[in-house]
Amino acid sequence: MAAAPLRESHAQGARQAFDDANVLIRGGTLLSMDPQVGDHAQADVLIRAGNIVAVGRDLDAPGVPVLDARGAIVLPGLIDTHWHMWNSLARGYAPTPSGTRFFEAMKTLSAAYEPDDSYLAVRYALAEAISGGITSVTNWAHNVRSPAHADAELRAMFESGAGGRFLYGYPQDMAASKTNDFADIERVRKQYFDGARGLIDLGVAIRGPERTPASTWRREMEFAQQRGLPFSVHVAVTRDVQKQRAIDQIHASGFLDASTELVHATHAGDEDFRAIVAAKSNVVITPFTEMRVGYGITPVKRMLDNGVRPTIGNDTTVLAGNADLFGVMRAVLSLANGQAEKELAVPSRRVLEMATIDAARNLGLESRIGSIAPGKQADMIVVDAKRLGAAPVTDPLAFVTEAAQPACVRDVLVAGRFLKRDGKLTRVDASRLVDDADAAWHRLQARIKRA
Ligand SMILES: [Zn+2]
Repeated sequence: MAAAPLRESHAQGARQAFDDANVLIRGGTLLSMDPQVGDHAQADVLIRAGNIVAVGRDLDAPGVPVLDARGAIVLPGLIDTHWHMWNSLARGYAPTPSGTRFFEAMKTLSAAYEPDDSYLAVRYALAEAISGGITSVTNWAHNVRSPAHADAELRAMFESGAGGRFLYGYPQDMAASKTNDFADIERVRKQYFDGARGLIDLGVAIRGPERTPASTWRREMEFAQQRGLPFSVHVAVTRDVQKQRAIDQIHASGFLDASTELVHATHAGDEDFRAIVAAKSNVVITPFTEMRVGYGITPVKRMLDNGVRPTIGNDTTVLAGNADLFGVMRAVLSLANGQAEKELAVPSRRVLEMATIDAARNLGLESRIGSIAPGKQADMIVVDAKRLGAAPVTDPLAFVTEAAQPACVRDVLVAGRFLKRDGKLTRVDASRLVDDADAAWHRLQARIKRA
């Protein structure tokens, strides 16, 4: 797969789509997540050239194709800020059938990956994401075994039509003394990301103080900082590693700022949270995986009490099972209420902000995505509530945060283009993709057995 033509075709594709993306979404129940626009029992959204130009009742737009959204809920596309997409072929792989725990299983699996596997896994993960109403994803790529693996993951991301961020990582089995491949990150930056910001941007995935010596992680963070690249690091994941005070170390070294993302922070102290808030750094939580892998109970209430505005992610379908960001919202809401021992500790709207406008802010894109308002890019979803297990909807906000499922997502638009329409993905043949994923998984298993 030659990388240069890909970039060209991506740029052309983006231009064409923006020219074509005119839609009038008619009569849906609107959760705009924009304070000026507000919520409406029924409203129209007019999209021209991929952007929202008007929101209101009975909008008139002769010649613009109409999407009937009566009886459905229209809301901003969901944004997943933490997902290791490369391992999406291995759903539920540990402890069985791998015979080991998650981290060991991933190390063995990762070594068997060829670029084609990375491509297919990311393509598959993104199809699942889009189908479930996710319009942007941060892909925390920690199995970049070669430049070709990086190109493969990027190709899948660009082809998907979704937005997000590629966090350029490292091979799982890389020595702690070795730094990320700076030369190739530079190459990728120049090759794919040198123009105006498109739907996807670039950052760096760093192992950090809990996994590498200071001589490694400081050089990596310095590399990112000097180039204005955001970086992300897993921190305070267990009670034991929190003794290393990773957040403190990052702070003391001058790397805690608005382009820093800290993942999990399950055992961070209140003083860590206060430092994070003061530095305007980003925090991502992934409750299902944090609990499933035994890190601990996601301290949602303590984060909120300290002023942290966490965003949410699926993390990995190996542990999370599926990519249901509605379910993650429900988990976050329930954790906060449970920890507060109070029924209404966190409002539904606050939880939906985590998956929309706050996540957009994490990506530095709050003026462009994350809510439905004139001037913004048309990233939105139409959720069908007229179905078993959903109807009747007594309250749209409560429905979205506590009852909706990926299967309820009827339409998905990114920059005004349909990535899912009337329940069907538009860019991939889902049943063929499932067959391809099965075949790739069997090849991987055979390779692991031979190794
Ligand atoms: Zn992670």
